[in-house]
Amino acid sequence: MVQVAIENVTKAFGAFNVIHGIEVTVEDGEFVVLVGPSGCGKSTLLRMIAGLEEITSGTISIAGRIVNDVRPKERDIAMVFQSYALYPHMTVRKNMGFSLKLAKIPKHEIDKAVDRAASILGLEALLDRRPKQLSGGQRQRVAMGRAIVRSPQVFLFDEPLSNLDAQLRLQMRSEIRELHQRLEATTIYVTHDQVEAMTMADKIVVMRGGKVEQIGSPIDLYDRPANRFVASFIGSPSMNFIKGKIDRKSNTFMMADGSATSIPAPPLIDPGEDEIILGVRPENIEIVDGSRSGSLIGTVNFTEITGADTIVNLDVSGNRCSVMLRDRRHLKPGEKLQLMPLAGTHHYFEASENGLRL
Ligand code: ATP
Repeated sequence: MVQVAIENVTKAFGAFNVIHGIEVTVEDGEFVVLVGPSGCGKSTLLRMIAGLEEITSGTISIAGRIVNDVRPKERDIAMVFQSYALYPHMTVRKNMGFSLKLAKIPKHEIDKAVDRAASILGLEALLDRRPKQLSGGQRQRVAMGRAIVRSPQVFLFDEPLSNLDAQLRLQMRSEIRELHQRLEATTIYVTHDQVEAMTMADKIVVMRGGKVEQIGSPIDLYDRPANRFVASFIGSPSMNFIKGKIDRKSNTFMMADGSATSIPAPPLIDPGEDEIILGVRPENIEIVDGSRSGSLIGTVNFTEITGADTIVNLDVSGNRCSVMLRDRRHLKPGEKLQLMPLAGTHHYFEASENGLRL
């Protein structure tokens, strides 16, 4: 059982604390994605797991063994980086087998391991080429092959797809997932791309400023974001936030400018007179007909047609909002629309900067 346990881990570079007491458990065979904005500390955390960065305090265990003082080579992990770091003068076969050669594994065993990895990754025909004779995607596959040949207990990926174009990124994303399904190895994957996190992870760890904001399955984070940061980070386009308060007489949401709506108040919590934030995802808003009362009134700023869908950008009582329509729609700037969240899809948050979900 190869569980990775990160317990109360901190990291300081000199006087500068960048990781503040992180607790994460990666279960055996699980695919966990660390996601968060640039500088939140995800690479530093991954590098501490790999042993490339010292831990300031706390413990990291791999398969039940505390590895704080274990050298990277002895942790039985393989890491795939954003820059593939292939040796330019070596063939694909030599690149893939190099770590085994260093470990003094007999040649016929290295060949067997390389052939197996090459067949898993569809690299058989490229084994005699050098890196400069490969496309970006093929190079990335070789970098993964190099990790696979070692049959490590844990795979670590640090933004492995960020140098690839959008189409290739999509393809490699599913290849990495398929690879994981085949090998069932414990995997920790770092990205700043929430779409990558949503589509690849069994479990997502959302980080910000060296702390964990929320841990959960992609659907958990999408349906029940713990706070406004997670709510706006997960999902694209981002969740809309509308300021207002609860009208206790009608038990509905009232916008900050005093206009009433028929959107139900949160069932259990009474925020009193305080300001509250309504959160609605762009894909959960429908345009309703003018005779329906209690809707939100939006004024169109501009529209973006993505092909099949239309994203309408609007102003709703001073709040910038977007609505995702599953068809093509040409709307004029200044046009007024009546909008309603689909039943049961809205959220409420405390009004503070990173307000908790109510
Ligand atoms: P990105 O997505 O941009 O790679 P990240 O979330 O991976 O960001 P880290 O690279 O882990 O972030 O950096 C976290 C913080 O630690 C940043 O503020 C960074 O400036 C700082 N940091 C990273 N490495 C060092 C170092 N060797 N010395 C000092 N500060 C560092």
